[in-house]
Amino acid sequence: MSELYRLTVREASAALTAGELTSVALTEALLARMSAVEPTVQAFLTKTGEQALAAARIADAERRPDHGPLHGIPLAIKDVICTEGVRTTCGSAILETFVPPYSATVVQRLEAAGAISLGKLNCDEFAMGSSTENSAYHVTRNPWDPERVPGGSSGGSAAVVAASMAPASLGTDTGGSIRQPAALCGVSGLKPTYGRVSRFGLVAYGSSLDQIGPLAWTAADLALVLQVIAGHDSRDGTSAATPVPDYTAALTGDVRGLRVGVPREYFVEGMEPGVEAATREAIAVLAAQGAELVEVSLPYTKYALPTYYIIAPAEASANLARFDGVRYGPREQGESMWEEIELTRGRRFGAEVRRRIMLGTYALSAGYYDAYYKRAQQVRTLIKRDFEQVFAQVDVLAAPTSPTVAFKVGQRLDDPLAMYLSDVCTLPINLAGVPALVVPCGFSEGLPVGLQLIGRPFEEATLLRAGDAYQRLTDWHTRRPTL
Ligand code: GLN
Repeated sequence: MSELYRLTVREASAALTAGELTSVALTEALLARMSAVEPTVQAFLTKTGEQALAAARIADAERRPDHGPLHGIPLAIKDVICTEGVRTTCGSAILETFVPPYSATVVQRLEAAGAISLGKLNCDEFAMGSSTENSAYHVTRNPWDPERVPGGSSGGSAAVVAASMAPASLGTDTGGSIRQPAALCGVSGLKPTYGRVSRFGLVAYGSSLDQIGPLAWTAADLALVLQVIAGHDSRDGTSAATPVPDYTAALTGDVRGLRVGVPREYFVEGMEPGVEAATREAIAVLAAQGAELVEVSLPYTKYALPTYYIIAPAEASANLARFDGVRYGPREQGESMWEEIELTRGRRFGAEVRRRIMLGTYALSAGYYDAYYKRAQQVRTLIKRDFEQVFAQVDVLAAPTSPTVAFKVGQRLDDPLAMYLSDVCTLPINLAGVPALVVPCGFSEGLPVGLQLIGRPFEEATLLRAGDAYQRLTDWHTRRPTL
């Protein structure tokens, strides 16, 4: 087997089960790949190669036929997810030295399933951004063109897969942070239904919007990771008790009769023609497989961006209040406790995070609360109703993910609004709490484009079935960048 680092989770898992591959050999191949391409891509903030090799040796020694498909499989984790004993920075200088005393539920579940962590991945500071340029540490590069951003905020999570340094990763998605980078890096990614995956141990950004989800090459691989991380967790009060179906069993390859809504508002003004063309072609492939296309409308879509940029910063401003230099991470020296807090927050939060804290505090302050925060919550309800209404007519929605392909590093840095516009097609989904899958569906100007499939609450299985059926007929998910 040459180029072990290119194996998908499913392929690696089959080879491990058949005794044709060891976890040590696979881990070594990925670490060698990392040495070769990580200097260009810079997906990682913390590498745990030694620990990974030690875990791989144990996995090989303990291997039993009844082990699940992730046993002995290396993957990597976005740095907003707590890992016991391994530094977790959230891409922020304020957590430069923070080592969590416990692991997030998702990490515990992956470990229990035998998966191995290669390290922690770069992201925009506290997941605020769409390009990974807001990291306090370095910019991650798009493996398809290192002059360009990988998207964000889970840019490291998408780039690590696209660069074949890990067959899968975990990201988080508050307004598009799994889906937009997946699209821009030509990989698959899933934002589960709000409540499907435990947020315990995820450093909160917008608590009513955040979800952890997997990135990998194929929908079939996403199904394997979701299977392990999904399910109720008593330590997360918003975690749902809804039973977890068998996601792999749902991959029948059959989309005949599936009603696919094409929401007209998602083909936004300013969308690149190559992105629109690839998206529409992908939708035509689903139709050719027997899906039934229906044009639909979600009229409140245009309010999603302003609504999100009230609610997410409001929640962020409250969530980030805990970072004061006293309880977590480093502390700046000052004359008094208050001065130390001021200096720590003033110096160690980056510009975008400070902007969000100010926006959020303003929107929540007395006198403005009703005009901004309360109004935004009311509009959120209308956006949610849009989805309830279309899902009475159709089973899934098919739409673009990002209106553009990956942009150049630095290009949108001085224009926060242009950056916020990256997420017009993904934000409404988080406001409604529904799940969405992205699969690679072509290229525009040599750069990847992703198709977004949006589903009813807790119907991830339907999305994965449609995404997998699409991947059985297309080969976009098999294209690899030359690095
Ligand atoms: N880009 C959006 C923001 O900056 C979404 C980020 C995310 O999903 N974490 O808030």
